[in-house]
Amino acid sequence: MVGLKPLQLIRERDTGAAPRPDAMTAPDLRWQRDAACVDAEPELFYADQSTDPSTVSAARRICRGCSVRRACVDYAIENNEQSGMWGGLTANERRSVASRGR
Ligand code: SF4
Repeated sequence: MVGLKPLQLIRERDTGAAPRPDAMTAPDLRWQRDAACVDAEPELFYADQSTDPSTVSAARRICRGCSVRRACVDYAIENNEQSGMWGGLTANERRSVASRGR
C-alpha cells in the first residue's frame, strides 16, 4: 500500500480486484475518498522540485485546497513515504516536519 497515491488506491479499489494480502492490516484510508487529487495526473505529485518547480507548485496548489490534507501528510509521515507530494509537502519537507516532531 505504501508508495501509492490516493488516486491509485481509489482506482485499485474500484476495479473490483481481490483484496491484497496486506488488506487486513492496512491503515484506515477512508480519508482518500475526499482527496482533491483524485482526478489529477499522478505525475504532478512526483515532479522534481529542482528541475520542475512549476509542476511542484501546481501539485501544491491542489493540496492547498484539499479537505484531507492533514490526514494525507500524517499518513505519509507515519508510513515513511520517500517520494511524491503528500499533504502539500515534498519528501524533504516531510522529513523536516517529522524531525521537529510535527
Ligand atoms: S493533500 Fe494533496 S496529495 Fe493529499 S489527498 Fe489532498 S490533494 Fe491528494
